[in-house]
Amino acid sequence: MFKLDLQRFAVPYRRTSKTKKRMRHTHLKKEAGVVVTCPKCGAALRPHRACVKCGNYKNKEVIKTEEEK
Ligand SMILES: [Zn+2]
Repeated sequence: MFKLDLQRFAVPYRRTSKTKKRMRHTHLKKEAGVVVTCPKCGAALRPHRACVKCGNYKNKEVIKTEEEK
C-alpha cells in the first residue's frame, strides 16, 4: 500500500493564535439586511415584500389586517 510521506504535506509552522484568528475574522462581519419604508404607514420592511403592519404592497391591499375588520 501507499506510504504516508509527511514531507509532502504543507504543515503550518505554528498553531494560529487566538488573537490572529480573531483579527482575521474581523473582516467576516455579516452585513445588515436591506430595509425600506412602507409608503402607507412608514413601517420598516424588507424590499419586494408586503407590509406586515398594514398589508399593502405597491399601494394595494394584499393582506387583510386585523385593524380593518
Ligand atoms: Zn405599511
